[in-house]
Amino acid sequence: MATQRVLDFLATRRPAGPCLVVDLDVVADNFNAFEKALPNSKIYYAVKANPAPEILRLLAGLGSSFDTASVAEIEMAMDAGATADRISFGNTIKKERDIARAHELGIDLFAVDCVEEVEKIARAAPGSRVFCRVLTDGEGAEWPLSRKFGCVPAMAVDVLRHAHALGLAAYGVSFHVGSQQTDLAAWDRALGDAKGVFATLAGEGIVLKMVNMGGGFPTRYLKDVPTAQAYGQAIFQALSKHFGNRMPETIIEPGRGMVGNAGTIKSEVVLISKKSANDNVRWVYLDIGKFGGLAETMDEAIRYPIVTARDDDEKAPCVLAGPTCDSADVMYEKTPYPLPLSLTIGDDVLIEGTGAYTTTYASVAFNGFEPLRSYVI
Ligand SMILES: *Cc1c(COP(=O)(O)O)cnc(C)c1O
Repeated sequence: MATQRVLDFLATRRPAGPCLVVDLDVVADNFNAFEKALPNSKIYYAVKANPAPEILRLLAGLGSSFDTASVAEIEMAMDAGATADRISFGNTIKKERDIARAHELGIDLFAVDCVEEVEKIARAAPGSRVFCRVLTDGEGAEWPLSRKFGCVPAMAVDVLRHAHALGLAAYGVSFHVGSQQTDLAAWDRALGDAKGVFATLAGEGIVLKMVNMGGGFPTRYLKDVPTAQAYGQAIFQALSKHFGNRMPETIIEPGRGMVGNAGTIKSEVVLISKKSANDNVRWVYLDIGKFGGLAETMDEAIRYPIVTARDDDEKAPCVLAGPTCDSADVMYEKTPYPLPLSLTIGDDVLIEGTGAYTTTYASVAFNGFEPLRSYVI
C-alpha cells in the first residue's frame, strides 16, 4: 500500500528513527473520490485525524471545509487558508471562553448535544447556527465512539427547540456512525433518527436545514472495505428514503478515510526474544508502540498491515510490542501477528495505513522517546 513516492523517500532519505511519511497525492485522490461519491455534500475534513499543515493547505486549496475540535484546530485551518465560513466547531464539549474566541474569529457553526451547551453558545456566540448530535449505537464500527457524544433523538428535539428560543439558528442534526464503519446500513439508521427530529420540529414551525453525516469512512487495513462510491450510493439511497424530495443540505466529515491510506510508518525491530526455551510465540519489539503513535491498537481494535522485506519467507505468530517500559505498550497479543521466521533485529518494518490518528497520539517524551516524526511529501 505504501506508494512508490513513499518508498523512494525512505530509500533515499533513510530517516533514522521511527517516522510517518504521508503522500499528499493520495490525500488529493481521497478528496476527489469523496466529492465524486457524494457530489451534493460539503466535505468538512476532521482535522484531528492528521493536522499536518501541508495536508490542511492541500485540502483548503481543493475547496474542503474543516471540522475542528478546539481553538487551536480552528487557527490551524485558518492558517492553511480556510475562511471562517468553511469551519465548523464540531466538538460538543467546549469551554465558554473558547466558544467566544471562535465567535470572534468568525465561526458561526457549532455542535451541541445538550441544553447546557446551547446556553453557552447563546451567551458567547449569539445568533450562531447550531446542530444537535444524536447518539448512534456504533455497531459495525471498529473504533466505535460510544455514548460519549450525542443525545437521544427525543432530547435533540428539546435541545434545538431551546436553541431556537434563545435566538440561535436551530440548523440541523449530526451524528457519527463510529469510526472505521464498514456497515453501509449504519447511515440509514442514523438518517432515520435525523428525519424524526426534522419532522417533529417542523410540526412546531422550526425548520431545520442541515444533516451532518459525520465521519466513519474506512481505511483499508487487512480486510477489504467498500469503496467511497459504495458509501455514496448507500447514503444517497438512505437520504432519498427518509427525506424524499425535500433533501436537506448535507455535510460529511471524513478523517480516517481522507488520510489513513496516505501514510506509512517506518519502524525498526529492536529485539526478538522468547519468554521460555520452549515458547513457540516470539516477542517482537519495535521502536514504536502505543505511546509512539499506535494508540489505536488499544484493545487490538485497529490491526495494521505490516510489511517486511522478508515476507516471502515462512511466517509464524508473534506478540508485537513497543519499546517503552510500560506493560500496556503491547500492540497485538490476544491475536498474535504472523511475521517471517527470518525476521532479524535491526530489520525495518513498514506499518501501512497509518496516516490517521498516529502523529497526534504520540506522547511527548514518555521514557525519553521523541514524538513520532512526520514527513509530508
Ligand atoms: C473524529 C470525528 C470525525 C472523523 O471521524 P473518522 O471516523 O475518522 O472519519 C468526524 N466528525 C467528528 C465530529 C469527529 O469527532
